[in-house]
Amino acid sequence: MRTSIIGYPRIGSLRELKFASEKYFRGEIGAAELEKTAKEIRLRSLRTQQDSGLDFIPSGDFSYYDGALDTAFLLNAVPERYRALGLSELDTYFAAARGYQGEKGDVKALAMKKWYNTNYHYMVPEIEDSAELELTGTRPFDLFIEAKEQGAVTKPVILGAYTFLKLARFTGTKTAEDFLDAAAGAYSQLLGRFAELGAEWVQIDEPSLVTDMTAGDVALFTGLYEKILSGKNGVKVLLQTYFGDVRDCYDELCRLDFDGIGLDFTEGKRSLELVREKGFPKGKILFAGAVNGKNIWRSDYTKIAGLIGELGKYAEETVLSTSCSLLHVPCTLANETKLPESCKKYLAFAEEKLEELAELKTVLSSQRPEETEELRRNIALHSQPRIAGDPAVRARVAALTEKDLVREPAFAERERIQKERFGLPLFPTTTIGSFPQTADVKASRAALRRGQITKEEHEKFIEEKIAQCVALQEEIGLDVLVHGEFERNDMVEYFGQCLEGYIFTENGWVQSYGTRCVKPPVIWGDISRARPMTVRWSVYAQSLTKKPMKGMLTGPVTILNWSFPREDISLKESAFQIALAIREEVLDLEKSGISIIQVDEAALREKLPLRRADWREDYLDWAIPAFRYVHSGVRPETQIHTHMCYSEFADIIRDIDDMDADVITFEASRSDLRILDVLKESGFRTEVGPGVYDIHSPRIPSKEEIKAAIDKMKSRIPVSKLWVNPDCGLKTRGNEETVPSLKNLVAAAKEARDENG
Ligand code: GLN
Ligand code: ZN
Repeated sequence: MRTSIIGYPRIGSLRELKFASEKYFRGEIGAAELEKTAKEIRLRSLRTQQDSGLDFIPSGDFSYYDGALDTAFLLNAVPERYRALGLSELDTYFAAARGYQGEKGDVKALAMKKWYNTNYHYMVPEIEDSAELELTGTRPFDLFIEAKEQGAVTKPVILGAYTFLKLARFTGTKTAEDFLDAAAGAYSQLLGRFAELGAEWVQIDEPSLVTDMTAGDVALFTGLYEKILSGKNGVKVLLQTYFGDVRDCYDELCRLDFDGIGLDFTEGKRSLELVREKGFPKGKILFAGAVNGKNIWRSDYTKIAGLIGELGKYAEETVLSTSCSLLHVPCTLANETKLPESCKKYLAFAEEKLEELAELKTVLSSQRPEETEELRRNIALHSQPRIAGDPAVRARVAALTEKDLVREPAFAERERIQKERFGLPLFPTTTIGSFPQTADVKASRAALRRGQITKEEHEKFIEEKIAQCVALQEEIGLDVLVHGEFERNDMVEYFGQCLEGYIFTENGWVQSYGTRCVKPPVIWGDISRARPMTVRWSVYAQSLTKKPMKGMLTGPVTILNWSFPREDISLKESAFQIALAIREEVLDLEKSGISIIQVDEAALREKLPLRRADWREDYLDWAIPAFRYVHSGVRPETQIHTHMCYSEFADIIRDIDDMDADVITFEASRSDLRILDVLKESGFRTEVGPGVYDIHSPRIPSKEEIKAAIDKMKSRIPVSKLWVNPDCGLKTRGNEETVPSLKNLVAAAKEARDENG
C-alpha cells in the first residue's frame, strides 16, 4: 500500500509566508528575502513529508498567492495591462493578484472567486482574444529540481487544462474551444519536460470534473486529453479530482490514457457506486481519497480499511490518498498550547494527517491488520463517544415541527403592520452593521487580551464608541441605526465564544486568499447559548436614540459554514442547534425593546453543493428552514432583516425569498445592479436594499452616483419595497470615507423622496 497527498499548506505553520509577503508589499524586504522565506517553508514541508514516509510527495503545490494565477503565468495567459506595467516577473504576478497603483500605472487586480465549495478563493484567469497559450513559465520545473536536490523525486502538481479553461474568463469573442489546441500543446510539452527531468508521475488536478458537465464540456475534456496524453513521453499521469464525484465523465476517465485516476471518496457521493457499477480499468492505479482533506477530525481507520478493501476488488492497485489538498486544514497541532490533550487526540491537521497516512499504510499492509497497534489505538479512540452531548438541546431540535419553522402572520400582513409601526419615509436609509474599526478599537481589544486593561474598562470604551456612532448617525440623518459592532472583530468567533460547544485554536490558520488566512472555530459539541451575546450593546445603543436601533446577529448557516463542522452528527442537526441559540438571542432582543433585528447570512451561498441536483436535498432544504427558525417566534411588528455579501443568487431567488425575512440587504453595486431584473421577474416579495455603493473601495461615491443607483432600482422594484444602504459593513473603511459617503447616501435618498412627492 502506497500513500499520496494532493497538496500541502503553503503559508507556513506560523503564517511565515503571509508576513514575509506583506513586508515585501510594504517595501520592507526585497524579492530575494521573500524567496528565501518561501524556500524555507517549502523545504520544511518537504522534510516533514519525507520523514513521514509518504510515497507520493507533491511539488509545485506551493504558491506565492494562488495556484490558478500561477497556471495563468505558466501558460502565458497574462493580460496585457499587467505586462504593460513593465515590472519584474514577480511584481507583474503580484499586480495581477492585488492590483497596482504607483508610478508605472494604475490597474485593478484580477477578479477573485470562491474555490468550489471551500472558503479558499482563486484569482480568475483572464484570457484575451490575443492570448497565445504556450508554456512559458519554468516554476514547476524549478520546484521539482529543488526537491530533487533534497533527495525527493516528487510528483509535480499542475492545475489541469480543462479546469483552467473552465475557470477562466474570456474577455473577447473566443471561447475555451478556441484555445483547445494551444492549451493541449502546452500541457503536452510540460509532460515531456518533466519526463526529461526524471519525474515518474505528474499529477494533473481537474476539480471541475466534479461539477455538472454538459456534452460540450465532456467533449472539451476528452479533446484536450487525447492531445495532451500523446506527449507523455514515458511519464505517468495521475488525473486527480476532488470535492465530489465524476459521474458525468467516469467512462471517459477510464478510457483515456491516464495511468492513475484520483477519486474523492469523502465528498464524492457516487464515487464508490461508480467504481462498483462500472468497474475500474486494468493497468491503471486508483488513488483513493479516503482521508478527509478538508476537516480536522482523526480518521476512522476501520472505515477506511473497509473502503480500501472494497476498492481492491475492482482496482489492480489502490494508493491511499487524502480527499483533497491539505491546503484547507491548518498546518500542525504542534503550535496548539492551550487545547487540552483530551481534545487534541481527536484532531488531525495537515501534519497529523501525514501521520495518519503512515499509520494506515502499516495497518493496510499488514497480514493481520487487526493485530496492529495503530489500528487498536484508533479503534480505542473511536470506541467511546467523544462527547457527552447535551440532551436538552437534542431534544429541542428533535421536537421541532413544520409549524415552528413558519412565521405568522404571512409576509404581506407583517409588512402592513410594520409600515404602520415604524412610519419610515420612502427609501429608508440604513447601514449593514459595522462602523470603521479604527485603531483605538483594535488597541483596546488588544490591551484587554494582554491584561493591560480590565473588562470593565474595555466595555466602558465600547460604550463610548457606541455613543459616538449613534450621534454620528443621527447627525448624518440615517433612518434605521446600528450600534457599530465595536465589540467584535469577526462575525463568527465572537458568537462562538458566547456559545457552549465551540473550541478555538491558537494557530489553526487556513488560507482564504493570497496572504489572508482565517482561523475557523471548531464545533466540538452540541451548541447552546451560554449567555446573551449582544443584548447589552443593542439595548444601550437604543437607549441613546428615538430612531429604531437594529439588533445585529450572525445567522446559523453562516456560523456553521465558517466553522469546522462535526462529523458525528449531520450539518443539518448542527445548523438547527445554532439556530436555536440565535433564536433565543433574537427573542431576548425583542423582549428588551429592540424592534428591528438583522440576522446576517453572509455565507449562505458558499456551501451550495457543486451539483445542481444536490442543491435542495443536501442543503437548501435545511439551510433555509434553519434561518426561518431563528425568527419564526417574533411578533408581527418586529422587523427581521438579513444581509448577504454577494448578489449571485439569481438561481436560488425563490429560496432567498423563502427565508421570509422582512428586508434583505445585499451587495449589488459592483455587479451594476444586474440582480434587479431577476428580482423583478421573480416577483420578489421581501423588501430589498441592494447596496448602492461599494464599500470595498476607498473612494467616496457622489450623491449623483447614488441617486442614479436609486433611480435604477426604482425602475425595477416597487418603491414601497426599497431601502437605501451601502453594500456591506463599514468595518474595514476609515471615517474619512465613511462619513461623506453616508452623507451623500442620505442626500440622494432625500432627493429621491422629493421626486416621489
Ligand atoms: N453586519 C456585518 C457588518 O456590517 C456584516 C458583515 C458581512 O456581511 N460580512 O460587518
Ligand atoms: Zn456583507
